[in-house]
Amino acid sequence: MKTLVLKAGRDKSVKRRHPWIFSGAVERVEGVTAGSPGSGETVLLKSAEGKTLALAAYSPQSQIRARVWSFDPGVTIKSAFFETSIAKAVRLRAALPAARHTNALRLVHGESDGLPGLVVDRYADVLVAQFLSAGAEHWREAILDALAAATGCEAIYERSDAEVRALEGLEPRAGFARGNREARRCPIIEHGLNFRVDVEAGQKTGFFLDQRENRQRVRALAEGREVLDAFSYTGGFSLAALAGGAKHVTAVESSAEALEVARENLAANPLDSSRIVFEKADVFSYQRLLRDRGRRFDLVVLDPPKFAPTAAQAKNAARAYKDINLMALKLLAPGGLLATFSCSGGVSAELFQSIVAGAAVDAGVDARIVERFGAAADHPVALNFPEGDYLKGLLVLRT
Ligand code: SAH
Repeated sequence: MKTLVLKAGRDKSVKRRHPWIFSGAVERVEGVTAGSPGSGETVLLKSAEGKTLALAAYSPQSQIRARVWSFDPGVTIKSAFFETSIAKAVRLRAALPAARHTNALRLVHGESDGLPGLVVDRYADVLVAQFLSAGAEHWREAILDALAAATGCEAIYERSDAEVRALEGLEPRAGFARGNREARRCPIIEHGLNFRVDVEAGQKTGFFLDQRENRQRVRALAEGREVLDAFSYTGGFSLAALAGGAKHVTAVESSAEALEVARENLAANPLDSSRIVFEKADVFSYQRLLRDRGRRFDLVVLDPPKFAPTAAQAKNAARAYKDINLMALKLLAPGGLLATFSCSGGVSAELFQSIVAGAAVDAGVDARIVERFGAAADHPVALNFPEGDYLKGLLVLRT
């Protein structure tokens, strides 16, 4: 096994058990054979003083040069390691309260489950896996076997088509890695509501499981309210609001494919379809149209896509967040609620709050935070990996 020796003083984050080693922290590679380790190969991590720190997966092309599999150098990274780690992650989910209310859960959440670069969602009896790092890619077969063994699922669809793969020097890949079945409409149940998940062509792995409990919260708040669900995707918040007794829901989404699934989702539930309209539109301009028409809402949900994947894009993202929040606050009737979210890793909870505060000032409304939202418990955040804490949300009351 080759050894990655860190520069002097660059072992601090590893000692705090942060799993990423950036290229600038690496002093040199040592080994009996010449050359650098292959993509995904396991390396031993040492401090400049020669102290053994961890076992990690090498990623020759990425700025994140290595990702830690284990801080215990006594462990061997082989198939059994993945069997154990995956079985543990699956057991954790089975013990969650949410497991009694849904058959769709995130089973593996990357670094926070000790498996950097691996994301696995379960949609009833179909698993969807994403191999997003050189290390996860290297152990793909072992991981697929371990997933099948831990869950009993015969069908595993691979959605390794996320852009981050390119940063690791990996080609995109999608399709069934194990088994085969109709994957455009996997039926799932979430808190008694039926949804169809397009595992093949849907966004991410097909459904936004991280918003599960927040959808439930919106359901509990929706009774008798005029609701605007902006960036509605396949209707998660919209259907929750309808089930919660909303007076009427306006769902706005730019993707025709997502709206098609949203309509099917509506039809799959005993909900009153006369109380909802789906609008294929751009939220930025549609909010202005609603304002010009003098429309008012009692509950607005804003769940936009990731405007800032990294901190470098935070400034442009801040402008976009401010714009939609400003318009949403203007559309709110007094006493109305705004459930506003950001899933941008590059926008901290603190920055997001200040953006929403600025939006309220500019909208000329008096508003206060009455609740805070995060990702559901099947998306844990390892204490040593704050980057995993990407989803934040505020429930804002316009007074
Ligand atoms: N709330 C959803 C997830 C939303 S994901 C749920 O709980 O399932 C964000 C959605 O915003 C995506 O479906 C994407 O197609 C849509 N979107 C992105 N930009 C948009 C825009 N400018 N106007 C309308 N929709 C947009």
